[in-house]
Amino acid sequence: MKENRTGKVLVVDDNQTNLILVQAHLKNMGLEAILADNALDGINAAIKHQPNVILLDVMMPSIDGFETCRRLKSDIRTASIPVIFVTAKDQSEDKVSGLKLGAIDYIAKPFNKGELQARISIVLEMTKLQKKLLLLANTDELTGLSNRRHFFEILEREMLQAKIKGNSIAVMMFDLDHFKMVNDSYGHLCGDKILQQVGKILNENIYPLDIAARYGGEEFIVIMPGMPNEVAETRAEKLRDAIDSFDWMAEEHPITITCSVGFSVFDGNNSTDPYELIKRADDALYAAKRKGRNCIVSWRKIKPEENIAEIQDQSFKDLQEKIASLANRLKGQTIGTMRAFAKAIAEKDQTMAQHAENVKMYSLKIAEKMKVSPDFLSQLETAAVLHDLGKIVISENIINKTTALTDKEIKMIHRHPVISAEILEPVGIFKKELLFIRHHHENYDGTGYPNGLVGKSIPIGSRIIAVADAFDAMTSSRWSNSKRPIENVLDEITTLAGSQFDPEVAEAFKEVLAENREFWPLSQKKLQECHV
Ligand code: GH3
Ligand code: MG
Ligand code: MG
Repeated sequence: MKENRTGKVLVVDDNQTNLILVQAHLKNMGLEAILADNALDGINAAIKHQPNVILLDVMMPSIDGFETCRRLKSDIRTASIPVIFVTAKDQSEDKVSGLKLGAIDYIAKPFNKGELQARISIVLEMTKLQKKLLLLANTDELTGLSNRRHFFEILEREMLQAKIKGNSIAVMMFDLDHFKMVNDSYGHLCGDKILQQVGKILNENIYPLDIAARYGGEEFIVIMPGMPNEVAETRAEKLRDAIDSFDWMAEEHPITITCSVGFSVFDGNNSTDPYELIKRADDALYAAKRKGRNCIVSWRKIKPEENIAEIQDQSFKDLQEKIASLANRLKGQTIGTMRAFAKAIAEKDQTMAQHAENVKMYSLKIAEKMKVSPDFLSQLETAAVLHDLGKIVISENIINKTTALTDKEIKMIHRHPVISAEILEPVGIFKKELLFIRHHHENYDGTGYPNGLVGKSIPIGSRIIAVADAFDAMTSSRWSNSKRPIENVLDEITTLAGSQFDPEVAEAFKEVLAENREFWPLSQKKLQECHV
């Protein structure tokens, strides 16, 4: 029965009868046979036709099968084509020599038709699977572009070619600007979709010989073989502009996505290696970020002091470590300063200070229940303590007013999350915390303020603070004249899950409340006991 297969098999054998016989078997399998009756014709046919498998006779005049195999395996154009030896020489040392030369299998003559067909089928299946695996191993899952590993392989190959031919190559590194904020505001899934679209834009705007790859998280890289420096600049700008001018949307809101680009051109004459070329593009990218982002910078145009490549690796590392430790200390000090700030408010308004501490405790417990990272807990802690900072600029009369507020007063109150964030903004280190604070009065259904964010596009820290904040407000005597029974408060929070609150946060809150029923709501006295 004729099998339904596709593929090309090159048969190299000096015996015409054998060639015709094998051709008939292959035809029977639905395979195309390419025939060669000597080694040199066989090698040329392999280069030209790129068969899926080569059946190679060992005993041939002038160049034998072993030598043919060695030549095929040492030529990059034919090295990966599987070779099966077909020969009357069935000695085991011959088998070993053949396999050592890189042959995949060995069939003894006179062969049995079924065996020949079965062996060819196995090899074809195997190579198909290998190709599939190779493609998977080379492809970035999210964007479908080449991944970092494959990119290095391509760059090494292209640079070798360029050196031989004296050609140039441009390497361009793209890094999305402030992408963390996009994730924080709209969620990781939305971030992923944007990354996919960036990959698509790059791929659609490059020429057939160019290669786009995903280099890392939100970093992409493009190789342009044969690209001189002058043209590289125009091409980099075109790609930057394509990303900048795309109509980006996140949850039906128009948003801005831009990237910074650094590029470096290898001129084909020097001893630069691929890693050096990438490092230069990376240094140029760093310069583009410093220049203000959403721009392109050529490595040739960066000033020597900006050229990190010039700095010794070790001293650069030392400097980085120093800066990191300084930033950490500064962050610690800033939190200390902010706590002092909060304390100062406490002197002015003890209840507000206690509210901040209570919200912090409730928020942390909810977050722990939701199994978040330690980094997140520390960001949430800071945000919870400082979430109402903005209230200090709002007149005490409004804050403490127990009668109905006027429209103007409501507007003032509604500005406090933004004011809190604005007070903290110059500190510069509280990127995430600022977001949590700014959005802690957003409602899950989009009816909150200041931006009317909806659902998971509200930062998770804000969604947690919102529940903690409401619970403290409902259980403290300041905002409600008589303390409400806790079941009543819990009922209200449960009812508001899905409209005001994130249902997952509300659920986590319900569980932690049950666990802390003995201690919650936190009273002023308990708080003071905890913090003297
Ligand atoms: P800059 O302008 O300085 O580049 O700011 P940035 O926020 O883009 O830079 P940073 O390197 O601090 O943050 C990169 C962010 O990219 C961190 C992470 O949230 C996001 N990111 C990395 N990989 C992925 C991914 O696979 N999916 C999504 N959604 N986000 C990713
Ligand atoms: Mg980055
Ligand atoms: Mg970035």
